[in-house]
Amino acid sequence: MKNIALIGCTGSIGRQTLDVVKKNPDRFRITALACGQDAEALSTLKKQFSPRIAYCAAEGEIPLGALFEDCDVAFIAAGGFAGLQYTMSAIEAGKRVLLANKESLVCGGELVTRAAKKRGVEIVPVDSEHSAIFQALGFKREAKFEKLILTASGGPFLHYEKEQLSRVTAKEALSHPTWKMGKKVTVDSATLLNKGYEVIEAKWLYDTDFDRIEAVVHPESIVHSLVSFADGAMIAQLGYPDMRLPIQLALTYPERLACTPQLDLVKLAALHFLPLPREKFPCFDLAIGAGRAGGTAPTLLNGAAEEAVSAFLKGHITLPQIAETIGEVLGSIPKGEATSLAALEEADSMARRAANAFIYGK
Ligand code: MG
Repeated sequence: MKNIALIGCTGSIGRQTLDVVKKNPDRFRITALACGQDAEALSTLKKQFSPRIAYCAAEGEIPLGALFEDCDVAFIAAGGFAGLQYTMSAIEAGKRVLLANKESLVCGGELVTRAAKKRGVEIVPVDSEHSAIFQALGFKREAKFEKLILTASGGPFLHYEKEQLSRVTAKEALSHPTWKMGKKVTVDSATLLNKGYEVIEAKWLYDTDFDRIEAVVHPESIVHSLVSFADGAMIAQLGYPDMRLPIQLALTYPERLACTPQLDLVKLAALHFLPLPREKFPCFDLAIGAGRAGGTAPTLLNGAAEEAVSAFLKGHITLPQIAETIGEVLGSIPKGEATSLAALEEADSMARRAANAFIYGK
């Protein structure tokens, strides 16, 4: 029996994780559930899964370590910068981290990997691209590779002209062609910011540098990512776009259990790969630039992005203004060192203030 503390239980990944748990009651048990806002949904889930502890962050603070006391693994599916504190607490508690929160490595890559190494804690990827790479490496992080190649669906605006992008609505941005996800990550997929985040995550997860990571558009979302090797071989992982597979595999690997239907290769007929349209979607290069700069730069980028995406969803700014906001914040706040969670939290607040001043002129 594997005991799971699930953080971010009411979001898209959290719900799919509970789906996997429900289908395998003889293997998985929930010991803790935590969410950010939705106390009502949490209380329904509490009745269903009987965790020892259920926590809603909006209802007051508790020592986060308490969430991880009885678990074997910490599944971090909380969204945004707020997820980082849970990842750090789980590592401090010495628990294996199954990581679906992107910001933990985007903003806290240096901090998280250092703490995990010191505590002997493994970080297991849940995101489909990083899971695909983990699978292509035969679950061996130390395996030598030439390049990691992340695939991107390209989002709903892949074939739009640049000038059309300033007229797209939040509703259009939220209708992703292949994946069903939370709102923030769906908008980030439409701007390709998400792919920039995933490059930064790959750098930390597979201890490599930016020159060894590429991203390519693959509109069908069947090939979830690839690894190339010195001899020219390339190994990919294929499957229908369904997050339950990487979620379940993170819980059971190297063992594989029944999960999704197998691909009907003949029906697929053709798979396409295209260059990433970086000029049309400047968020990707902004993310890579911040990742290369290091320190608090990715945290500044993310704080600006969280505020800008929220303003876009409310109809206050256009899609291209998300990149403009990020560029403004990165250009106006000098990066500092990412030496502590407190330093990152300070950078995050500064970025949010600067982003809102830029958006609302306050
Ligand atoms: Mg992904």
